Amino acid sequence: MSQSLEYLLVLDFEATCQENSKGPMQPVQEIIEFPVVQLRTSDWAEIRRFHQYVRPIECPKLTSFCTSLTGIIQEMVDGQPTLSAVLEDFDAWMKEDSRLKTGNFAFVTCGDWDLKVALPNEAKFKNIQIPEYMKQWINVKKAYAAHTNHFARGMPELLKIYNLKLQGRHHSGIDDVANICEIVRCLGKDGHNYRITGSSDQPTTTRRFFREARK
Ligand code: AMP
Ligand code: MG
Ligand code: MG
Repeated sequence: MSQSLEYLLVLDFEATCQENSKGPMQPVQEIIEFPVVQLRTSDWAEIRRFHQYVRPIECPKLTSFCTSLTGIIQEMVDGQPTLSAVLEDFDAWMKEDSRLKTGNFAFVTCGDWDLKVALPNEAKFKNIQIPEYMKQWINVKKAYAAHTNHFARGMPELLKIYNLKLQGRHHSGIDDVANICEIVRCLGKDGHNYRITGSSDQPTTTRRFFREARK
């Protein structure tokens, strides 16, 4: 089956965190890992990748909870560029590839959190502009639900459905991206034609914000 979109950019952020019982990160949750893999939908091959650890500024010291969840240790973020610099490098990476044109690619995430909550929230707090191309995306859980009428709760369930073995470590951004890529390939080969499922253009009410954050 031929896909409407020529390229899918699979993305999965990791961010500063503490145990849920201790509440959200104050004053803001910050992205610490920024991995993106570019898939070509004609043969589902990985053609390029961008992978950068990011130094948090508001809470520069990672919690031990965050390190045990993500596998990201302090030394991996110390001395790294901050989010605004990483977004600039990422923009250069996007522009390097003349095959990427408006309308022929989309980001794919597992859930709406990455591009609906994490990035817009941190960017607003730090007064950073989000590139237009990151304001819409495909949530693979919604794509799977549209294709099968069954809603999978998360990446581990989708891996199980497709009989895929977990690669690497769950909650490592780059490993999560590799696993999401496998799911994206399976659903694509199953005949799903990927389309945008969400955008961050509409203002989000507080209630919707928390509802979306849980998805
Ligand atoms: P994920 O892509 O599922 O690895 O999660 C992205 C980010 O969400 C993580 O880097 C954490 O900041 C946060 N997160 C995920 N799971 C948890 C959890 N069980 N408790 C607290 N924060 C979490
Ligand atoms: Mg994720
Ligand atoms: Mg992850």
